[in-house]
Amino acid sequence: MRTGVVLDRRYEAHDTGAGHPERPERIRAIRDLMDAYRREGLVAIEPRVATDAEIALNHDPAHVARVAATAGRARTAFDADTPVCAESYATAALAAGGYLRLLEAMLAGDVDNGFAFVRPPGHHAEPDRAMGFCLFNNVAIGAHWLRARGVGRILIVDWDVHHGNGTQESFWDDPDTLYASIHQYPFYPGTGAASEVGGGAAAGRTVNVPLPAGCGDDEYIAAFTDLVAPVARQFRPEVVLVSAGFDADHRDPLAGMQATEAGFGALARIVMRIAEESAAGRVAAVLEGGYDLAALRAAVPAVLDELGGARLREAIPTPAPRQSVLAPARAAQRGFWEIPG
Ligand SMILES: [Zn+2]
Repeated sequence: MRTGVVLDRRYEAHDTGAGHPERPERIRAIRDLMDAYRREGLVAIEPRVATDAEIALNHDPAHVARVAATAGRARTAFDADTPVCAESYATAALAAGGYLRLLEAMLAGDVDNGFAFVRPPGHHAEPDRAMGFCLFNNVAIGAHWLRARGVGRILIVDWDVHHGNGTQESFWDDPDTLYASIHQYPFYPGTGAASEVGGGAAAGRTVNVPLPAGCGDDEYIAAFTDLVAPVARQFRPEVVLVSAGFDADHRDPLAGMQATEAGFGALARIVMRIAEESAAGRVAAVLEGGYDLAALRAAVPAVLDELGGARLREAIPTPAPRQSVLAPARAAQRGFWEIPG
């Protein structure tokens, strides 16, 4: 498979200040590992800056203007977690635009799938609000952009350890965008209960799988195998987007999960199989969280290996999850989908 990779040192220009976990070294670590990573079919994709109009596909123009107004200014902050420096607006526009370039390449058939390694991350950013290290919601902008180009059903899988409150809000009432998030709960940002299923005609198009702290590969794989994949196969997405955070890793300093690089690889393989069935294999991942550099160095290659497709037919490990952790999500979705078991 041809896998597009968006990666650029300009993503290090968003300076969050000393001691902040969402730091430029995250991109530096991925650049270092990609210098040594070799695989057939990797295609480097040059990012571009998203226009304000493209960003406004998902965000209130007033929010875009508030972020833009920080350009060139001394450091300030949208909230205690979300500082901005003189370069933050430009970096965030390059993050959204980098993801759009990947989507452009995928729609054009230049690549089969891909991963945009960008920062700042996006999934906490709401249409009218920056929060949780996020200024613009890259995956949500991408989904709206695809819709504007005629793509119908879009699946967004979010395996970042935090709930993507911003993405959920963006597509709460949209029956053609299925948002599936698996996350530590209760935890920041507080949303993501199993009972949050989407509104009106979009009921069942938000699938939240909240998991208690301490879960690892077994629970994540079970959630994907037993719930996310069956729902996705009934939904039949035309494109699959992934909010790919690596903060569910056992080494992460912020969260309390126990996932490993083997687990992230298995999740990627399941996503690939979903995409293979109805989406012509089209999977576009974008980096969200993940704050331990060793975890990034281990898990990013595991996912890129899977996007290569060589292991697509290999068996998914059979999980032995802690019993009943999936019960609330299964019960919440049973009225909308056929849920096995
Ligand atoms: Zn996160």
